[in-house]
Amino acid sequence: MKVLKIDHLGIAVNSVNEGKKFWSDILGLNFTGSETVAEQKVTTAFFPVGEGEVELLESTAPDGPIAKYIDKKGTGIQHVAFRVENIEEALAELKGKGVKLIDQKPRIGAGGAKIAFLHPKATGGVLVELCER
Ligand code: ZN
Repeated sequence: MKVLKIDHLGIAVNSVNEGKKFWSDILGLNFTGSETVAEQKVTTAFFPVGEGEVELLESTAPDGPIAKYIDKKGTGIQHVAFRVENIEEALAELKGKGVKLIDQKPRIGAGGAKIAFLHPKATGGVLVELCER
């Protein structure tokens, strides 16, 4: 499998509007818009920087994965996403190596990217997302 770059950092926030105050107003990152992914009960907001992006994640429901994450661990970096050349190939290779996956096959994330998460138990505690765009 070929990992091309760090695609984005996923950061759990209570409010995208609050988050913007630091990431955009203070740090000066360009805000390029937000998108709600209903299936994940999350609103995402993107701030490209260099070859990567900061992705803020705000839960749209108290039982969404981001709300649960914040309940348990508080706000902050929630996942690291790596862009791969071919996500199906990458998942097959990881499965072959016995790596525990959250997503057995890719689903569609924000921006229409194909994404899949690896289980933090397999990565030393880091929620790793693979994405292909
Ligand atoms: Zn992500």
